[in-house]
Formats: sequence, structure tokens, C-alpha cells
Amino acid sequence: MKREKQLRKEMAILGATFTTILLLAGAGLLWVVLDRNDFFLPGVKQGRCIANLERIAHAKAELARDRDLTNGAPITTDQILDYVEGGAHSLKCPAGGTYSINPVGRSPQCSVPGHEMK
Ligand SMILES: [Zn+2]
Repeated sequence: MKREKQLRKEMAILGATFTTILLLAGAGLLWVVLDRNDFFLPGVKQGRCIANLERIAHAKAELARDRDLTNGAPITTDQILDYVEGGAHSLKCPAGGTYSINPVGRSPQCSVPGHEMK
């Protein structure tokens, strides 16, 4: 009888430990899914990318103003680097798309469908 009680206690501890591990693993998995997996939440990366495009557009506008560039003037990535909020990091699509800075007067674009400024 005493042995059975002891066994139950051990099982309860084991169960609680197992539950804790499962919860931690679940939380970790959720974090990975939320942060990295575009499959479940495609809007997350899309939103980050569009925010990048807006930073690029803003940087282009500042550069154009500073250097009196008119519509159609070509702009290189190097030229806007100093103007981009967040630096070169903002020049990378979180979903792996490629950015086209585009000339003055045209919005910057991402190669991933749906990653576009409104
Ligand atoms: Zn993108």
C-alpha cells in the first residue's frame, strides 16, 4: 500500500515534469512559427517587408531632395544606405525577396508577390 502511494507520487512528479517540458517546447515552437514560418502567418513577413519598402521610399525622397534629383533619376542602393532608417537591414526582405530600388518617382518593389506598397 505504501509502495503504491510512493509510486503515485513519483508518477505525479513525472507527469508534471513532462507537462512542463511539453509547454516549453510548445512555446518555443510557437515562437519559431510566429517569427520564421511564413506558412501559417504570411502577413507577418509581408508587413515587415512593406515597412522596409516604406523606409526605402522615404530614404529615396530625402536623397532626391538633398541632391535635387528629378523623377526618373536612377538611384543605387549605396546612395540611400545613409538615409535608410534601420540601415542595410531594412534593405532585406524577411521572406527572401529581392528589392528593386527604382528611379525617383517610382515606388521601390519586392520580388515576392503581395509585397507591395499601397
Ligand atoms: Zn518582400
